[in-house]
Amino acid sequence: MNLYSIYALHMSAVTTSVEKNREQLEDLSQWVRVRMRQNSGNLWTLEASELKRIAEYPDQIPAALIQYLNHVSNDQLYDDIYYTLDGDRVCSPESGVMRFDSAVGSFVPAEAVPEQVCRGIGMVSTRMNVLASTYKWTAYMMTDSYFTFNFVFFNPDQAETIAYLSMPINRDYLISGVIGPEIFRRFSNSEESGVLVYLDDWTRGQVLISNAESNQDISRDHDFISRFSGVLEDWNLKMRYIETPEVAASKASLVRNIGVLAVTVFTLIFSLIFLYLAAKRDRELSMRQASFLANVTHELKTPLAVMQAAGENLADGRVTTPERLQSYGQHIFTETMRLRKMIEKLLDVARNEAGQLTLKPALLQPEKLVKEHLAEQQGFLNQNNVQLDLSIEDDVPKIMVDQNSFETILGNLIENAVKYSPEEKYLGIRVYSDTKKVFVEVQDHGTGIPPESQKLIFDKFYRVEETLTARTKGHGLGLSIVKNLTERNGGAISLNSTYGKGSTFTLSFPIAANISFSNLNGQKINEEESKPEYV
Ligand code: ADP
Repeated sequence: MNLYSIYALHMSAVTTSVEKNREQLEDLSQWVRVRMRQNSGNLWTLEASELKRIAEYPDQIPAALIQYLNHVSNDQLYDDIYYTLDGDRVCSPESGVMRFDSAVGSFVPAEAVPEQVCRGIGMVSTRMNVLASTYKWTAYMMTDSYFTFNFVFFNPDQAETIAYLSMPINRDYLISGVIGPEIFRRFSNSEESGVLVYLDDWTRGQVLISNAESNQDISRDHDFISRFSGVLEDWNLKMRYIETPEVAASKASLVRNIGVLAVTVFTLIFSLIFLYLAAKRDRELSMRQASFLANVTHELKTPLAVMQAAGENLADGRVTTPERLQSYGQHIFTETMRLRKMIEKLLDVARNEAGQLTLKPALLQPEKLVKEHLAEQQGFLNQNNVQLDLSIEDDVPKIMVDQNSFETILGNLIENAVKYSPEEKYLGIRVYSDTKKVFVEVQDHGTGIPPESQKLIFDKFYRVEETLTARTKGHGLGLSIVKNLTERNGGAISLNSTYGKGSTFTLSFPIAANISFSNLNGQKINEEESKPEYV
């Protein structure tokens, strides 16, 4: 795009904006006309006979007319409503002009008829006489320079005028309450928009209202004009550029441009923050992975080194006494178990990430699950002098879980409880339920977890950077496996921990009777497979 085409684009924007201003002005005068004759649509359906009857029965007003009368009575734009049949001496004291009394909903004889009304009626009557031979509708509407809004009801078949409805207009309200605010709403302040719009009474040579600070000194020339044809014949709406259309167009788009700029800047800032957070998270993760790798390498090498040394000594035949043989065997066994545990954890994570972890949910009794698992862990608990506090509520309902998962979950939580309790090795296990869920709580009196770490400990590779954690062997994988398996089995895990005092992890699983057999965490469950294993 070259400079010339930018200029051409700008000029076409200016032309469009000038065109738009002209349309806005037309639209405004049209709006005023519609506002003045609001709700008068049904008057065109009135019949001559219905209208004539009103003179005799002033409280029997046809539905279409009463609807309109009620509307006008509530409209601040009109001061009063007068009705009179056509006759030789319309508006004379004998001619029977009536006034609509909105409190009783009927016409009452008008005590005094404002001169303004009679002049209005006179004017539309004259106009109708001129139109009579060609007019095809039952109502004719017009305002006059005396500020009455009038309807003539007409019988086109007989070319006969039937009656008049005349309403004095509240001129001040029309100017300051209707047209003024609308000029302002559409064109804003002339200082801001560079466009002056004003209501001009051309018969009196007077500016009635405008979008300028003051109406005084407004010269009455214009660039565009719009008329209120058929309604306010004495008035026009006029528009003048007080700045060149180019400047006015730029001013008009200023607010929009600022808006677009603000949104762009906001989006940019938001994207930068997002990028920063994503980069920070990535960096933390790679740091954790690096420390995990170092940790794992060490963890893998240590048992291997122990086993290698023990194996060498045994192979050399240097170890002969039964006690030493037993101790070497014990070493090899313990290290093999450690290695195995670790490899299993790594495999769990890898399988889960590859989407290859298959679950076999079955109906199981939490009490039996927990007790059997504790029996298996007895050796480990004794070795560590753990003080076990087990409490299981009677008749805890069955849950639908994969047994291997449950064991891994509980195993990890118990291992952590023991591992992170350097002094008092207390292990509280509670099993209970409410109407919807079964809860399994694992509590310790260990180090506890600092509040800022509590959300993070379920993340892969995360370890609390406190001295004890640094000294305690681990890889930051256990809790991420626990959370993942719990959720895949339809459960949830929560943590309540006080730093320095201890932690309680609470698992919750839905009661089996409350869940459908068809789906558990996206897995189809075969009913055969889900047969209760404990009865
Ligand atoms: P790790 O192999 O490091 O134990 P986990 O994923 O099991 O990995 O735990 C993540 C971290 O959460 C641990 O490094 C430890 O800082 C903290 N943690 C877990 N369980 C406990 C607990 N019962 N008491 C105190 N801290 C705990």
